[in-house]
Amino acid sequence: MTKRPEPRDRAPRATQPMLSVEEAQKKVLSAFQRLETEPAAILEATGRVLADDIRADVDIPPHANSSMDGYAVQAADTATASQESPASLHIIGDLPAGHVPEQEVEAGTAIRIMTGAPIPPGADAVVKVEDTETEDGFVHIFTPVEPGNYVRPAGEDVRRGALVLRRGTRIRAQEIGMLAALGDTQVPVTRKPRVAILATGDELVPIAESLPPGKIRNTNSYSNAAQVIKHGGEPILLGIAPDTVAELTAKIRAGLKQDVDLFLTSGGVSVGDFDLVKDVLAAEGEMDFWRVRMKPGKPLAFGHIHGVPILGLPGNPVSVMVSFEMFARPALLKMQGAADWERSTVDATLMDEIPHKDERRHFVRVRLEWEEGEYHAYLTGAQGSGILSSMVKANALAIIPEDWNSAPSGARVRVIILD
Ligand code: AMP
Ligand code: MG
Repeated sequence: MTKRPEPRDRAPRATQPMLSVEEAQKKVLSAFQRLETEPAAILEATGRVLADDIRADVDIPPHANSSMDGYAVQAADTATASQESPASLHIIGDLPAGHVPEQEVEAGTAIRIMTGAPIPPGADAVVKVEDTETEDGFVHIFTPVEPGNYVRPAGEDVRRGALVLRRGTRIRAQEIGMLAALGDTQVPVTRKPRVAILATGDELVPIAESLPPGKIRNTNSYSNAAQVIKHGGEPILLGIAPDTVAELTAKIRAGLKQDVDLFLTSGGVSVGDFDLVKDVLAAEGEMDFWRVRMKPGKPLAFGHIHGVPILGLPGNPVSVMVSFEMFARPALLKMQGAADWERSTVDATLMDEIPHKDERRHFVRVRLEWEEGEYHAYLTGAQGSGILSSMVKANALAIIPEDWNSAPSGARVRVIILD
């Protein structure tokens, strides 16, 4: 069956606005708000974004305690201790971690104490066991200690009332540890954005199927879904829409019924005859079609359909990932209320030449290595927008600015760290 696209009034290519990456990001980001707060069980909060400030309602540690195994003493008792004339203190008790002191340390006495045990009343220092000898119920101490020696004061780590974790923080293992120390079994986090993902193209088949002649597997839905997961969202795979108005429209409408916060399509936004996505998006919602001054990923559609923000990403497997990185990732982070969405960048020396380039900003797939005291960025192979293997080898994207028409090996470039 041959399909002829219906004739349509498509704006000629050159009239689509050409935006800088920043202009496009700004327009996209302005369409998103932080989503609602929900409680998560502590471990489920790993990798999510904290939705409220967390203040300490206790001191951590809750009581002054010993940082060594040794003897709790009055420092003054050790003031004149020496190898020849040690201080000899009467051992009046034993204090393991987790136990409450029952006795008071008075002048001339000591309590054997374990790491983490509360400092007993009267004591103001700990002498570590290695610096002592014991004999007939006495401990001999050979060097003077200062008050506070090996004592961890109450609240040394966190003072009661202090702001410990800020809203907008991405929760890592150390934040989980802090929440555990505060006894927070439930953590306020922002709801995960739900992201619909629709692949378009007559050439696509589901990945589990064998490949008939002329077909390729639907790669983009999976790379995009993995990006969604990595950045805290929940992907909803809508499968493949063939290049007909009716089927594409039906798939988009079905996807919109699934309560999504962002709708992603791939393919069909360039200028090919069968690129129906633009037409269907325009018919179903309010859409802008842009050329973004970047490579890969020049064509980009953005707008709303039935109130849901929708990003029409390009079809080539690298373009779709880089466009996701530049536009969908910031949107996901903003929806989660993340305090900042910029990737970390470093300056690096470009180790391979880029002989020619156009007036777009090029995001070049590189492997970033720390060598001889600086970062080196090596091209990972052919940079065609369909060459996924060079994305596989890459851990970073080198930014080659718009106004360079080539980049010599040895040039200093800014590099976006992906992993
Ligand atoms: P399009 O913009 O629809 O013309 O797609 C550009 C290129 O990307 C074409 O070579 C498509 O076959 C390819 N492509 C589009 N969608 C996908 C997909 N989901 N998985 C793999 N390749 C795709
Ligand atoms: Mg297509």
